[in-house]
Amino acid sequence: MILYMTQFIAVFAGVYYLLPNLILRRKTLLADAPGILLTFDDGPCQEVTEEVLDILAENDTNACFFVLGEKAKASKELMARMAREGHSIGLHGNTHRHPLSLTPKEQWKELSEAYQILAHLGLKPRYYRAPHGFYTLSSWLFCLNNGLEIVHWTVLAEDWKIGEAKSLTQRLMNRSAPGRILVLHDGSEGKADPNANHIMPAALKAYLKNWRAQGGLLTPWSDYEKN
Ligand SMILES: [Zn+2]
Repeated sequence: MILYMTQFIAVFAGVYYLLPNLILRRKTLLADAPGILLTFDDGPCQEVTEEVLDILAENDTNACFFVLGEKAKASKELMARMAREGHSIGLHGNTHRHPLSLTPKEQWKELSEAYQILAHLGLKPRYYRAPHGFYTLSSWLFCLNNGLEIVHWTVLAEDWKIGEAKSLTQRLMNRSAPGRILVLHDGSEGKADPNANHIMPAALKAYLKNWRAQGGLLTPWSDYEKN
């Protein structure tokens, strides 16, 4: 009996957790883009997201925001601005609970609630990125069922740690290359320092200036969507 239980747990873990992560974390798709692509997770957050939107407008580019349903519901104006200014909306969850802490049914409900919130705001997400970058079979099936494309990241810059903006700018410069998908956090979740996301916009602004000054390109998210 114990042996059967062990085998069942091993098969379940393999199919439900291991396989989706092995496959879906490779879904970045954009290696041939001429510039870097910008994505933002865990928001929206009133002051930070506003500042990020201003910076993106100044740079005449657009990005994909992987938002949380509960926060989107509390920031309707900001979500409307995001859509109005040509940014893409991705689903990140309703809350930011780790998928490991959710049953398959809870995981589905979590995504379903977030999807509904966005629908009520008149927004249709096209992409999904898992909280903590951790995919499950349940989230994968939800995406297939709702036509959501999974987009993981290729560059993390540890912007959840408190520090000087110029250090973050430097990390972004060091890790950038054409075709990379960069993730920054306009919201503060999990183990992130609660003030770290407030430093991010200044670092982003300086990074975009430096990156472009050295001939680096930015690929607007809308260019990716055309492919
Ligand atoms: Zn996240």
